[in-house]
Amino acid sequence: MFEYAPAPESRDVVDIKPSYGLFINGEFVPGSSSFKTVNPANEEVLAEVAVASSDDVDRAVQAARKAFGVWSSMPGAERAKYLFRIARIIQERARELAVLESLDNGKPIRESRDVDVPLVAAHFFYYAGWADKLAYAGFGDRPLGVAGQVIPWNFPLLMLAWKIAPALACGNTVVLKPAETTPLTALLFAEICQQADLPPGVVNIVTGAGETGAAVVAHPDVNKVAFTGSTEVGRIIARTVAGTSKKLTLELGGKAANIVFEDAAIDQAVEGIVNGIFFNQGHVCCAGSRLLVQESVQDQLLDSLRRRLSTLRLGDPLDKNTDIGAINSADQLARIRQLSDLGEQEGASRWSPACELPEKGFWFPPTIFTGVAQSHSIAREEIFGPVLSVLTFRTPAEAVEKANNTPYGLSAGVWTEKGSRILWMADRLRAGVVWANTFNRFDPTSPFGGYKESGYGREGGLAGLEAYLDV
Ligand code: NAD
Ligand code: MG
Repeated sequence: MFEYAPAPESRDVVDIKPSYGLFINGEFVPGSSSFKTVNPANEEVLAEVAVASSDDVDRAVQAARKAFGVWSSMPGAERAKYLFRIARIIQERARELAVLESLDNGKPIRESRDVDVPLVAAHFFYYAGWADKLAYAGFGDRPLGVAGQVIPWNFPLLMLAWKIAPALACGNTVVLKPAETTPLTALLFAEICQQADLPPGVVNIVTGAGETGAAVVAHPDVNKVAFTGSTEVGRIIARTVAGTSKKLTLELGGKAANIVFEDAAIDQAVEGIVNGIFFNQGHVCCAGSRLLVQESVQDQLLDSLRRRLSTLRLGDPLDKNTDIGAINSADQLARIRQLSDLGEQEGASRWSPACELPEKGFWFPPTIFTGVAQSHSIAREEIFGPVLSVLTFRTPAEAVEKANNTPYGLSAGVWTEKGSRILWMADRLRAGVVWANTFNRFDPTSPFGGYKESGYGREGGLAGLEAYLDV
């Protein structure tokens, strides 16, 4: 191994203010209290951010309601112009957005720069294209009204784009609550809405924690609720919304199987496994957290995988060489540690490459568990961290059985040379997305969503319009 020289991206490209208000009716307004958001890579406080009380949420919903009249009666082609403008500004300010995302979230700049931000722009471009063509999509062209949207911290800007772009294209207005550990790029997005001259109240951003989210979801004048986050909170939200006329979509957790057959190109599969579970520190709902490998190639594949993991570089998220950044919060780190320790106690073997962890900040080394049984917690529960559980199978039927033996059903990966086997597997896997000889591949034209406890409704693509129209 040779040493790389550090290649840090400059943080001077972003101008982080000491404090941020709430974005309501096109303006930043103070909240009554505030919280701190930190850089998880070094625990530096980045900014004080306002907490939206239920009164603040009410003001935001009222602003959105008022703006709905203007926005929904605007011709689709006019709404599209705003969305195209937002998409272009996102591209122009891509470097700033990527650096801010990496600072607040801890993800490597290589990912925020090359994956998150380009996909964010792509989503706005894609849904801008639908705004004047809704009549051809098959769901009618009547918007629902005010959309209340609550998102998690793992892809802060991308989840914002998945929620806001289709909502606005369909003529709805929005009150969005970002996650409490990653509010900053949503607030920069609010500035982008101002820069794009978006009519006031069409997008409102209310920051805060679970209570603020609950106030958005429960507000009587919200017509549509869209949530991405944990299955636990998803259940609470489903109960709140039950019995109202609110339309609901839920994107929840996952425990995807990445299934490797003996005829697969092993080196290619190893890259897919690494991308599947170590991308974004494994903070990915559709992460390939269970590797199902055919018994005959287990040793060969694990040798290659261990060798590959030894080359991953963990450290400063702003360094362009970094593969694995910081865990998003102390809480999430504690949960990953707890579940990993449980894995050992239950009898699985743990392995990590030699890897020095920085002293400050929240870090967890890439980790593999072998000798994992179906009944182990690490095979059943979502760890949401850089931890892979390895199980084996002998026949395709056994692979399907094991892959589907989970309360979740968000995604799966199949690695084989045989096209007919891919189709056979895809027919039987209870998962919203099945990737063949690739993993974690996203595109705005492709719908995404779950089966079972992974939630319901689809985001992305033509199917994603349905959630925001009165069908
Ligand atoms: P979380 O459910 O705790 O929080 C998600 C969001 O909900 C945050 O903004 C939070 O403030 C808010 N919230 C918390 N309690 C609430 C309540 N009672 N009412 C309304 N809002 C509330 O989850 P998290 O820890 O932030 O994110 C990790 C989880 O999200 C993982 O389980 C992961 O699988 C899931 N996730 C799913 C997808 C998907 O597309 N299916 C995508 C990303 C993350
Ligand atoms: Mg943060």
